[in-house]
Amino acid sequence: MDARIIEEFGALLGHDGVITDPMQLRTYESDGLTNFRVAPTAVLLPNSADQIQAVVRICHRERIPFVARGAGTGLSGGALPIKDGVVISLARLNRILEVDIPNARVVVEPGVINADVTQRVAPHGYFYAPDPSSQSVCTIGGNVAENAGGAHCLKYGFTVNHVLALEVVLPDGSLVHLGGAALDQPGYDLTGVFVGSEGTLGIATKITLRIVKRPEVIQTLLAAFDSTDQAGAAVGAIIAAGILPAAIEIMDRLSIVAAEAAVHAGYPDCGALLLVELDGPDAEVEALMAQVRALCTDCGAWELRLAQSNAERATVWKGRKAAFAAMGRISPNYIVQDGVIPRTALPQVLREIERLSAAAGLRVANVFHAGDGNLHPLVLYDRKIPGQEHAAEELAFAILRLCVEAGGSITGEHGVGQEKKPFMSVMFAEPDLETMQLVRCAFDPHHLSNPDKVFPRPRLCGERAGPYQPHPLEVAGIAEFF
Ligand SMILES: Cc1cc2nc3c(=O)[nH]c(=O)nc-3n(C[C@H](O)[C@H](O)[C@H](O)COP(=O)(O)OP(=O)(O)OC[C@H]3O[C@@H](n4cnc5c(N)ncnc54)[C@H](O)[C@@H]3O)c2cc1C
Repeated sequence: MDARIIEEFGALLGHDGVITDPMQLRTYESDGLTNFRVAPTAVLLPNSADQIQAVVRICHRERIPFVARGAGTGLSGGALPIKDGVVISLARLNRILEVDIPNARVVVEPGVINADVTQRVAPHGYFYAPDPSSQSVCTIGGNVAENAGGAHCLKYGFTVNHVLALEVVLPDGSLVHLGGAALDQPGYDLTGVFVGSEGTLGIATKITLRIVKRPEVIQTLLAAFDSTDQAGAAVGAIIAAGILPAAIEIMDRLSIVAAEAAVHAGYPDCGALLLVELDGPDAEVEALMAQVRALCTDCGAWELRLAQSNAERATVWKGRKAAFAAMGRISPNYIVQDGVIPRTALPQVLREIERLSAAAGLRVANVFHAGDGNLHPLVLYDRKIPGQEHAAEELAFAILRLCVEAGGSITGEHGVGQEKKPFMSVMFAEPDLETMQLVRCAFDPHHLSNPDKVFPRPRLCGERAGPYQPHPLEVAGIAEFF
């Protein structure tokens, strides 16, 4: 990139607002999916929407591609930089701008950490419901871009159900407002279009969130089973009984072992653990919890443990939320997958994952948001063993294919990003993908905002889709899977 442009960025942001040192740039070369790495030309650190606008205008003028970055915890390569492009970090836009308790609204900048929203409104008896396991570090801007989910989204809905309005810098540098404080806005639902668009439509600079009143009572039950089949059957039985838990999660033996090693949550030594949380009015929760306990016992639970205090409840969740990172205790490397299947397909899919894992000679741990069929198989491998990384990627992709074949989806919450582009053609017909890209063209005709993500065949405005970009694994012979 021309030194003149870097100087122009420096004049706008100050010299501590532009990073070009190759060593420092390495921090930004990947997100949580570390097997994809690209060094950007520069990282820009604006501290206001005005500065973002000014920077994006330069990118537009010079046709420089840019990638917005929150905390970089994404697991699909969404914040992976573009070669010869810039990364626009939202880390300095981290202010909670307004807390409006009577209207249950909070206005935040995009770099605000998810858990900080709840912390801020908790003294008023409220919380922010979408709770990705990364919530202590990931940002609201990243959550909006990925339509982040979490354990409590089964009952409360995903990020899209909690975003009322957005201020967005479009890829030409103009500033627009999507949605509004009222619940039902006239016109197209552009807030809905933007949420989950993975940084491809512009940069969110201000976000109005809906917050939720904390329920009167929360009860959290741990149920120990011999197998994930039994735990899966209990999930089916609970939902079939008309009970909507606030959260219902399964951990298999391998993930229990890893979580125990990492955070000592005191989990029972069992084949599968079911974590059921109910919330609501005291009397209702008491009655429903009795029903849940009976259903778990019917399905083979041999230990039922109800958290007796907030501290105990927090420990139970700490183990579950640490499950991904805990894999580092039992394996040097791992890939987190994020497929969705119909709840009823859980036992067959888990058995097939077991078969694939044995065939590949690689261990797979399973942690999942069982209520909405969102699996997180964790494929364990050792990068130092020649060929294992490739085998792990193949296995992870075979698991995704399995999810699609079972009638599910290639992502429940982590997004398509860089990693899952080839699978978009598995899920969608060409006209469907073209329609999505027409929306993208309307926002970003010059293809500057996080280009080359999400779509297998990038399309420029006014043209047909470009040539298909195969994933390296396809080239290497996994194409028959697609
Ligand atoms: C241990 C662990 C557990 C996780 N658990 C969950 C989970 O339970 N549920 C879940 O949904 N995810 C989970 N994730 C994935 C990740 O945390 C989420 O996708 C999160 O929303 C990413 O936020 P971030 O701030 O890190 O965004 P980044 O990774 O920095 O960026 C993600 C995407 O958002 C775009 N982006 C960032 N900010 C903006 C903005 N202001 N405007 C426009 N685009 C923007 C980026 O370009 C990129 O495409 C987990 C990750 C880890 C490491």
